[in-house]
Amino acid sequence: MLRPMTHSGRSTDEALERARALDAADPLRRFRERFVVHNPDLVYLDGNSLGRLPMATRDRLRSAVENEWAGELIGAWDHWVELPGRVGDALARDVLGAAEGEVVVADSTTVNFYRLAAAALDARRGRRVIVTDRANFPTDRYVLEGLARARGLAIQWLDPDPVRGPSADDVAAVLDEDVALVSLSHVNYRSAAIADLAAIGERAHAAGALTLWDLSHSAGIVAVDLAGIGADLAVGCTYKYLNAGPGAPAFQYIRRDLQDELRTPIQGWFGRHDVFSMGQGWEPAAGIAAWLAGTPAILGLVAIEEGVRLVAEAGLARIRAKSIALTSFAVELHDHRLAGLGSSLGSPRDPGQRGGHVSIRHARARDLRALLAAAGVIADFREPDSLRLGLSPLTTSFEDVARGVEAIHVILAAG
Ligand SMILES: *Cc1c(COP(=O)(O)O)cnc(C)c1O
Repeated sequence: MLRPMTHSGRSTDEALERARALDAADPLRRFRERFVVHNPDLVYLDGNSLGRLPMATRDRLRSAVENEWAGELIGAWDHWVELPGRVGDALARDVLGAAEGEVVVADSTTVNFYRLAAAALDARRGRRVIVTDRANFPTDRYVLEGLARARGLAIQWLDPDPVRGPSADDVAAVLDEDVALVSLSHVNYRSAAIADLAAIGERAHAAGALTLWDLSHSAGIVAVDLAGIGADLAVGCTYKYLNAGPGAPAFQYIRRDLQDELRTPIQGWFGRHDVFSMGQGWEPAAGIAAWLAGTPAILGLVAIEEGVRLVAEAGLARIRAKSIALTSFAVELHDHRLAGLGSSLGSPRDPGQRGGHVSIRHARARDLRALLAAAGVIADFREPDSLRLGLSPLTTSFEDVARGVEAIHVILAAG
């Protein structure tokens, strides 16, 4: 623990010294050298919105553009067509705890979320309620509202504590035989609260409902065990902790036995068996391939393949261990340096309940974000009052955390 502050200069030095010692002992510290860093002085605490660019990804993209696109032209589709499934299998194995053939990469998280939610509602026709959380990510809420409106269904909103998030008991309290679908984020985008998917899923299944989890803020940082928790359906982003770049496509997971029972609401040609036969009528491809729709985003897919490879090499256990150390250090510095300056912690204190970022609540969080950016610290603001520090274990150092919190201290102390 840091000693109580005597005067601020000394405390800053002490925090930096501690940070440097933690960095020196960090088994993942060398991974940072494998990312393109233009400005080494920039403190980047937003890898949970857009992860940094791995050098391997830059090189792979260059090769995909110059050799495959420019060189092979249309002939490259002979091997490109394998990418959605191959990259899905890598995600299943190294990131999601799912089996081969249960994950495929396509489209955006929003579109995948719509596709799987609609399929789940079709499979529970007659039930009239969708359960989700008011603090859930906006796109999930909006898509569910749209589906409810189109089908005459109701949304049962959970309104949990904003820091702690919904518990299994909160969900159980609203479950009955009218609930078709329960959909929550694994790690909340604002507070980083981790939802107990295993317990919530068990309750939902006991009531006969299907579950759809959004893993955007856990994929690549918190180990997910989709097989172990008996998950039905899941989606998530690849451009956050998986570092696949802006607009890289998203993944969708459909448990093996549900792939034939459920039906995609988007009957595109890439999901038809024998894509290029151009035949009449849509007949689903076997297995997960039926859940593709249109032409895959090849450049994004190769970037995901490299991003997953880096995560697999570092290992999710080591990534999670460093993530807990980073967020715990941020919480400790928050308590020590920002106490009495109008802030409060917007993330759970128990590291077991907290994902990869730390939210600091402050009435002037929006201005704070802009002032920090001017001081070379990139964090982000989330309505209504949260400054979000995204700590990405492969690229964020403990020194980044110390410098980031110190910059917040300087701005708040100056009023
Ligand atoms: C980032 C994020 C998304 C983004 O979805 P897109 O379709 O890629 O814009 C969705 N859900 C959650 C929980 C997120 O954190």
